[in-house]
Amino acid sequence: MTNQTSTTNEPNRIPLHIGIDDTDSTRQGCTTYIAALLTQKLIQLGADFFDYPNLIRLNPNIPWKTRGNAALSLRVNINQNALRKAIEETLRIVERESDLSHPRTDPGIVFYQGKPVPQDIKTFARRTIQDVVKKSEALKLIKHYSAEAYGFNSGRGIIGALAAIGETLEGDHTYEFIAYRIPANIGSPRRVDDKSVLQMDVKMKGQTYNNTDPDKKRVLITPRGKDPVLLGIRGEDPQAVKIAYSMIKVNEKIERWIVFRTNQATDAHLRKIESIKEIRPYRPVIAVGSLVQEPHMIPGRHVIFTIQDNTAKIDCAAYEPTGKFRNIIRQLSIGDQIEVYGGVRPPSIRNLITINLEKIKIISLTTKTTLINPHCRVCGGRMESMGKGQGLRCKKCNNREDNAKKTATQVPRKISEGLYIPPPRAHRHLTKPFCRYGIEKTLHTSTIPRDFEGLGNPHFTT
Ligand code: ATP
Repeated sequence: MTNQTSTTNEPNRIPLHIGIDDTDSTRQGCTTYIAALLTQKLIQLGADFFDYPNLIRLNPNIPWKTRGNAALSLRVNINQNALRKAIEETLRIVERESDLSHPRTDPGIVFYQGKPVPQDIKTFARRTIQDVVKKSEALKLIKHYSAEAYGFNSGRGIIGALAAIGETLEGDHTYEFIAYRIPANIGSPRRVDDKSVLQMDVKMKGQTYNNTDPDKKRVLITPRGKDPVLLGIRGEDPQAVKIAYSMIKVNEKIERWIVFRTNQATDAHLRKIESIKEIRPYRPVIAVGSLVQEPHMIPGRHVIFTIQDNTAKIDCAAYEPTGKFRNIIRQLSIGDQIEVYGGVRPPSIRNLITINLEKIKIISLTTKTTLINPHCRVCGGRMESMGKGQGLRCKKCNNREDNAKKTATQVPRKISEGLYIPPPRAHRHLTKPFCRYGIEKTLHTSTIPRDFEGLGNPHFTT
């Protein structure tokens, strides 16, 4: 067994983990782009990456996130004499590229030297993905483990930066290929051929996911905003996402590209709880309960219902963007036992604390009955009621039966037990899609990344 306590086997090479977060705003920038710039700079300084750059999605229910609550980490071995330069260059690039004048941009950068990442920092990362944490907790760990942290404005990004270092993706993970636009094109429509994306999606099924939305035939790999991302392709391994890219017709210049290893599409944010009374705002959960209120539509075309276990009740909501998923929800009935997956919205003036549904599993459906008039014993026609307490009369032969009663009949259910997930366009970055069930990775033994970043439009040989 090799000693991995503080340095690599090579003399004077230091393992360095760099975490960055909260550099962008809705009006400009993207932290993944800064990570791509920094990757190039570190390679120029002679650093070797011992993992792909990591794109870590944190708790998607954090109200102060900009978009997808992403944080980034870069893990390299670097010569002792280049270490200070790497730290200085990181700070210079983050300062230059961040939208510092925006009131809600609070960049944080953390440097941790050594291997492996301490368990406490890994645990902190897990909590940052599943819960709400305080900056003071991050600062305490940074001090305890002699890491270095830098912040601009309030420096809140230090939380995400440390979490990105702490999530070492040793279990399930995926990859994302991202191509960035040249500055002159940012803000203009993205020139990516939709038809080629739809074709690639068919060919790369099982190896890539969420390229398109099947209901709307909409391309999902191109974002809409003014950020520098041209497209992002998500998949199971680095080769698959690059092959998928090579199948797409891109009609504009690419400034640079990179492949990230990520926790996207792994359900890493969802934590199974024992009882509904444990549910707290902003903590994504998996909870089990039985319906105690029929689903009903509210203004905005959202569907709401209530579940209960022996500890408490909670409202659940399938919002309008979940599309056809709401049709499944509307078929649920009182007594059905279900497992719900989703983020938790705090109570507001109009609503109680609510689970914002990301998926459901129907565990068991109740037998639903309805009372119907029986058949006539004389002619077999259908009886009808003659008014309250006045018995029934046959519509066909007029036979009257004073003591006849309606009979309970089973209503066929239009849904069956199993897992239901909204369409890809409504997924969170962390939501595990259907196609990833059964192919989750259980153990990551480190891979040295190869051919994982570059300048200009790439030409991969497949
Ligand atoms: P983008 O996806 O566009 O890069 P973003 O959605 O990641 O942006 P940020 O601008 O990074 O959003 O803002 C999120 C902020 O919330 C960061 O400062 C981060 O440190 C902090 N944060 C993230 N997760 C948590 C958490 N679980 N608890 C407390 N703070 C958190």
